[in-house]
Amino acid sequence: MHTSARNQVRPKDHNARRARVLRRYHGVCYWCGSGGASHVDHVHEVADGGTYAEDNMRPIHKDCHREKTSAARRARAAGKPLRITLRD
Ligand SMILES: [Zn+2]
Repeated sequence: MHTSARNQVRPKDHNARRARVLRRYHGVCYWCGSGGASHVDHVHEVADGGTYAEDNMRPIHKDCHREKTSAARRARAAGKPLRITLRD
């Protein structure tokens, strides 16, 4: 996967960030709105220029993550990268 220079590298404390994000949002999946999420997603895909910053990270279910990733891939292939507006 190509990562632009602007786009940093995966931070060393990524696992700690994931844990903080899960706690902060009480495991509520930003994709479907239900609780019990254990994965963390980069809302604005890193492949689309998103960052590894915590404000770009939200809890997501494993299945929702798969769905979102494929939606982002399709959007990217169509030349219209996915843009998601967060309310918080
Ligand atoms: Zn979900």
